[in-house]
Amino acid sequence: MGSIEFKGVTKRFGENTVIGDLDLTIEDGSFTVLVGPSGCGKTTLLRMIAGLDTQTHGQLLIDGKDVTHARPGDRDIAMVFQNYAIYPTMSVRGNIEFGLKNNKVSRDDRRQLVESISKTVGLFDYLDRKPSTLSGGQRQRVALARAMVKKPGVFLMDEPLSNLDAKLRFQMRVELIELHKMLGTTFVYVTHDQGEAMSMADTIVLMNGGKIQQMAPPEVMYRQPANVFTAEFMGIPPMNVTRAGADGIRVGFRPENARLSYAPLDGAFTAEGRIVTREMLGSETVYQVRGGDDVFMVKSADSGIDVDRDVYLAVAGEHLVRFGADGVRI
Ligand code: ADP
Ligand code: MG
Repeated sequence: MGSIEFKGVTKRFGENTVIGDLDLTIEDGSFTVLVGPSGCGKTTLLRMIAGLDTQTHGQLLIDGKDVTHARPGDRDIAMVFQNYAIYPTMSVRGNIEFGLKNNKVSRDDRRQLVESISKTVGLFDYLDRKPSTLSGGQRQRVALARAMVKKPGVFLMDEPLSNLDAKLRFQMRVELIELHKMLGTTFVYVTHDQGEAMSMADTIVLMNGGKIQQMAPPEVMYRQPANVFTAEFMGIPPMNVTRAGADGIRVGFRPENARLSYAPLDGAFTAEGRIVTREMLGSETVYQVRGGDDVFMVKSADSGIDVDRDVYLAVAGEHLVRFGADGVRI
């Protein structure tokens, strides 16, 4: 069991308010990803759940119980960090077992547990190896396994994949999704990478400046951004948002939803511009179109539109979102 509830939580470091009056409920069993730019308070939030930091005001509940004064070891959580601290002098087995040190588990049970978990994360054949003989991905799995032996109700992960190369990162994403399915426990995963959030989360919590901008499943986050910040943070390239008109109303559309042509086009939104860059991305091409004060990104299967050509751009009404002068979607 592992639901987590923040009620009016504020966290200050000296004069600096890092988290401001935050209300957030993380559902038991969810894969929740906290995402946002560097410095927005993600790690601080995670450290409060872990009990490594204490909130300045407000209440934090795990499974309905106020844990404000509960020590980290009494919180039924395990944390995996970006710089996974595994012990170089200990074998893989020793490192995994270390997660059990403070529990009273018999030697036999301990051996059985370590073996079954090492099978789960694909390390069974490596139990007697030293970490220095493992790949980066295997070492990350040691850190995961060490968290898993505790059988916590909540896994907290702070950018655990950011030290891995791109290929391994993609592979580990899939492994974490599968692990979550298998364990059924709450995962709270922190990243600054919107792609990681989109691909792994069942719920995304997007933060900026210590405030939640939007909390929603990936699809909703992408299609129905709550505000301009969300629209521009989620997706690569991000949503196009026009500069404010006279009434402050702004219009947004995704790069893949705009059409380009040398000939005039019809659409609920149209613009004229010039292709300034063309970037081939395998099956798709990303164009930058400058029209007046705006620069639009357009993603297309057609790679045949030339740089420096004047083009027409159009977007169908169903793909447009509108934002008020305050940046909130209307
Ligand atoms: P994120 O993980 O989203 O990058 P953090 O939670 O690490 O952000 O930090 C949020 C803000 O809190 C930053 O401005 C950071 O400088 C500040 N901060 C974090 N930890 C401390 C600390 N122990 N003392 C003072 N300021 C801190
Ligand atoms: Mg951080």
